[in-house]
Amino acid sequence: MALLPLTAAHRRSVIIALATVLCVCYFMTIGHEDSYSSFKSLSTQWTVSKDSAVVLDVKQTSEIRPQSKPSPSAGNISSSVHSPPRRANATLVMLARNSDLNGVISSVEQLEARFNRKFQYPWVFLNDEPFSVDFKKRVSVLTDAEISFGLIPRDSWVQPDWIDEDRAREGRNSLVRQGVIYGGSVSYRNMCRFNSGFFFHHELLTPYKWYWRVEPDVRYYCDLDYDPFLFMEDHDKVYGFTISMPEWEPTIPSLWSTVKDFVAKHPQYVARDNSMDFISDNAGDTYNMCHFWSNFEIADMDFWRGEAYTKFFEYLEATGGFYYERWGDAPVHSIAAALFARKDQIHFFKDIGYKHAEFAHCPQGKQWREGHCSCDPNDNFDFAQNSCLRHFMRLED
Ligand code: GDP
Ligand code: MN
Repeated sequence: MALLPLTAAHRRSVIIALATVLCVCYFMTIGHEDSYSSFKSLSTQWTVSKDSAVVLDVKQTSEIRPQSKPSPSAGNISSSVHSPPRRANATLVMLARNSDLNGVISSVEQLEARFNRKFQYPWVFLNDEPFSVDFKKRVSVLTDAEISFGLIPRDSWVQPDWIDEDRAREGRNSLVRQGVIYGGSVSYRNMCRFNSGFFFHHELLTPYKWYWRVEPDVRYYCDLDYDPFLFMEDHDKVYGFTISMPEWEPTIPSLWSTVKDFVAKHPQYVARDNSMDFISDNAGDTYNMCHFWSNFEIADMDFWRGEAYTKFFEYLEATGGFYYERWGDAPVHSIAAALFARKDQIHFFKDIGYKHAEFAHCPQGKQWREGHCSCDPNDNFDFAQNSCLRHFMRLED
């Protein structure tokens, strides 16, 4: 096709059209950046609630960054025809201190890569002190999912006034003398009590039913290609674990007698087909110290919010055992799940490769291969001498 010679008028129109296109592109870019930076500056003063209504955060307890990326189907005409994939009402939750930052980054990075990049479940971070600007910046960048940072109200964290401090100090000193880990720590007791009875009532968690508890400095070794929350929901589960072991007896000398008192007063809460044989070797006479290690939990917060556990926690709390002794959230959760849920409602996540401190669960065989697991299959606590997994397995017999 022959090119026509352009007249001066033609050239002017072409130049004007080009300039217009350039201006429009420029303002579109500026407009986008402006809305992004205005979100950033609002984020310390405002909370964006789950349904995106913006409300003034008077108490300044929490912040939420809404999901920054459009869903994969946005803009796709067929999205109005195909319903989006089913999701659970679930969140990933981590309690952490500002000083835990490096360990937090490591855990989030792994869980995002192995699971959440695909599933986009929201994250909730909780702290008894405000998270630093640096903490929020370094952690937010790791995920495209919604992320929120919350402050724990004082009365669900600190040692209550009615606790006899002299008695509590004596309890701490006694554990220090026995060389028990965290024996002298009040903040550790605060943490255990918070995880036992309060986290699921925090305003950032009340919208959700399911949670996956994450800790700083843990390892997630394998790809998880299905949704464990939907698995829990579809199979009527309430509590999922990867590692189980015995508790240090000196931290809970009076816990079992308190549990027995509670059960005697409220026998109606005990499930008919419970897991007593996981926690006791003599049908409930004594506690064998077995518990699910609560640094990993995938569980149903409505179970903790329900009548049986609410009454149970209140009963434990009233004894002061979280402070006079050093009751951990792991035995407290485990005993409750073992007694108030049916045994088939507790799930061993065999396919989730996980390590906390020196103890690992590494999937075996086909699950190890298909999960592209990076753990050594021989570094596996499942049937180590101190593991309680065989107690769990014997429930099926
Ligand atoms: P361990 O797993 O029993 O050895 O206890 P950790 O030190 O790992 O604590 C358990 C969880 O609670 C981790 O997620 C910690 O980051 C968190 N944690 C422990 N103590 C505190 C505390 O005083 N403040 C806050 N904000 N988090 C804590
Ligand atoms: Mn830990």
